Amino acid sequence: MTQDVHDAIVIGSGPAGYTAAIYLGRAGHQPLIIAGALTPGGQLVNTTEVENFPGFPEGILGPDLMENMRAQAEKFGAEIEYDDVTSVDFSGPVKLINTDSGTQYKAKTVIVTTGSEYRKLGVPGEQEYSGRGVSYCATCDGFFFKDKPIVVVGGGDSAMEEADFLSRYGSSVTVIHRREGFRASKIMVDRAIDNPNITFKLNTVVTEVTGDDNGANTIELKDTVTGQVSSIEANGIFVAIGYTPQTGFLKDAIELDNDGYIMTKPDTTNTSVPGVFAAGDAVDRVYRQAISAAGSGCKAALDAQHYLSTFSLEEAAEKAVQSI
Ligand code: NAP
Repeated sequence: MTQDVHDAIVIGSGPAGYTAAIYLGRAGHQPLIIAGALTPGGQLVNTTEVENFPGFPEGILGPDLMENMRAQAEKFGAEIEYDDVTSVDFSGPVKLINTDSGTQYKAKTVIVTTGSEYRKLGVPGEQEYSGRGVSYCATCDGFFFKDKPIVVVGGGDSAMEEADFLSRYGSSVTVIHRREGFRASKIMVDRAIDNPNITFKLNTVVTEVTGDDNGANTIELKDTVTGQVSSIEANGIFVAIGYTPQTGFLKDAIELDNDGYIMTKPDTTNTSVPGVFAAGDAVDRVYRQAISAAGSGCKAALDAQHYLSTFSLEEAAEKAVQSI
């Protein structure tokens, strides 16, 4: 099925996507958001309290924040489709977007805000026990490990947050981090250190996850300094080692860097293709905050509006005919 040509399509529904849609909607462009079939709302939907998004001095639950953003986008005329983009064709002046449901959407301008997905450890047993002990989301799965030994892998804010959250369920929570120093902010590290249910194993990497028919029960470890190997009991293994950008569906349509992040022109959200803009964690490997994603979504909407102000579908169609 093929749709009419939209002014703007936003791919993704995290803070960047919803913010872009709010701005485009207020400017009268009635954006279409392709929100993702399984994970609309992005990573914040799997977060508990968000304490650092300005405007909420008492904090706000991640899912509530995203629900507010969705409602705000719809209030200004955004339409939402819960579908996954499988491929794109940005070669012509009208951009084509194909989805899992078999629909082809067309747009004068596209904003890509597909964020990132959980990075995997890549060790034996990780995939085998995924969903049977290995998890990437403490708020989703913590409950299943009540009074069981839990490990959290990683040394960033996510690992600290997950360890703190999981300490209310597990019989023990051990944070395993490959270095001595943490990437996490001091306040998050201090909170985890002060928590009597959390212990740390530093300079340590996970080499394998093992278990039986009931699920994972042990992880194999290696000390990165001494090379000594050991194993500890663990029924819940929460991997919190960062993210990789969700840009595989773009293939060669726009320029990506070696790690798959979308390349944008300095000081803009312009990608390598005119009329295609990008914002949020699919672009940003440094800041990765909800507020910085929202800010970049705003910038992408303003860049797209500027592009739309000079775009003529008739001229584009004429050029396409001439080039045949
Ligand atoms: P991150 O900051 O990229 O940290 C990833 C951690 O995993 C690092 O400690 C890294 O070790 C480790 N790691 C990476 N690959 C590994 C591997 N293959 N094996 C073992 N360890 C590995 O990711 P994040 O913690 O998910 O945070 C992402 C962003 O979200 C950050 O900007 C963070 O501040 C933000 N965040 C904020 C909050 C909050 O404020 N409430 C909560 C969660 C996340 P190295 O340090 O050695 O590289």
